[in-house]
Amino acid sequence: MAADQPTVLVVEDEAAQREVLRYNLEAEGFRVAAAANGEEALVLMDEEAPDVVVLDWMLPNLSGIEVCRQFKTKNETRAVPVIMLSARSEEVDRVRGLETGADDYVIKPYSVRELMARVKAQLRRARPAAAGLRLEYSDITLDAETHRVMRDGQELKLGPTEFRLLSTFMEKPGRVWSREQLLDRVWGRDIYVDTRTVDVHIGRLRKALGVHGGDDPLRTVRGAGYALG
Ligand code: CA
Repeated sequence: MAADQPTVLVVEDEAAQREVLRYNLEAEGFRVAAAANGEEALVLMDEEAPDVVVLDWMLPNLSGIEVCRQFKTKNETRAVPVIMLSARSEEVDRVRGLETGADDYVIKPYSVRELMARVKAQLRRARPAAAGLRLEYSDITLDAETHRVMRDGQELKLGPTEFRLLSTFMEKPGRVWSREQLLDRVWGRDIYVDTRTVDVHIGRLRKALGVHGGDDPLRTVRGAGYALG
């Protein structure tokens, strides 16, 4: 399984509904992290760094609204799209009115197909490379579906790790990534890899990007990490 397989965090206290969501999301190629309550959701948000969250409003103790609010006030999780599930449309109106920062709302009972489409739409916005789209930066284009990288009209040969590094950078040009963040995103959180390994693969990526000439688009940010542009 690729380390950049997109992860969806499902927060739902009803076990049967949680399993339906897990089953369908996995069938769509997502990795699923599931929480039965808001407290668990806060822990998993931190541990699993999901790409999209599906969050039930009605949860015991900490409500979905409060969970969403906490996600949206933290710098590390603010940009992660949240799709809120709610039993009635009047609730959706209320949730909207409360300005929880949720990115989308789905009314229960929902059509699974409709919900999957909404998850994919949020993923395309938040993680274009993981959603299989074509990315462009300056004279570089990366096709996430065919795994082809072109620079100034010429194809570049990249290893799988360098490809994932480049797609991570191209999703967020200008963003500075620490070595630890790149390890999590490119190698996955379950694997122990020394941070120096990142430097080795950055070196290979730079070499591959410059094989037909052109400036080095990668920037080393002292004490912080790496950025594209
Ligand atoms: Ca519920």
